[in-house]
Amino acid sequence: MARSKKELFDWALTACRENRIKRTRPLESVLRYLAQHDMPTSWSDLSEDREIKATCNAATVFRIATKLERAGILRRVGLHSRHSHYVLSAPGRHCDYLICRNCDKILDAPGSCPIHKIEEEVERELGFHADFHELEIYGQCRECQHKKGRTSHKPTHEHHTHS
Ligand SMILES: [Zn+2]
Ligand SMILES: [Zn+2]
Repeated sequence: MARSKKELFDWALTACRENRIKRTRPLESVLRYLAQHDMPTSWSDLSEDREIKATCNAATVFRIATKLERAGILRRVGLHSRHSHYVLSAPGRHCDYLICRNCDKILDAPGSCPIHKIEEEVERELGFHADFHELEIYGQCRECQHKKGRTSHKPTHEHHTHS
């Protein structure tokens, strides 16, 4: 169920109206940016965007993001607020992520999602109807593992004098 960027933007505006979030130029610029980006965006990237920067400062971006998150319009991805990334959480938008704990890189989880099967199962067996799910898998990306292997590589032939 792919939405166009325009539809996503309109959905976000409507959701804001329903949540009584005042439509301001900074809000519009943040929503427009998020509607145009599929992958979660960090707060600093948002604040550094030229169009957003023209309407408000970084503190305002943070306030807007917090408000949107509370209203369920925005999903925060990542462990720490310092490295939080934001993505619009429109209904039916399915996003599972792989998050590197070392460099905070976020990747789209590839392949078909195994959670859908679990959702069908809980519906069948427990009568629980799932609306959506959020999956975040934390670990180390390929590049970080590579770097680590190079810098902290221990000699394989270590002689142990004590046993
Ligand atoms: Zn990494
Ligand atoms: Zn999924």
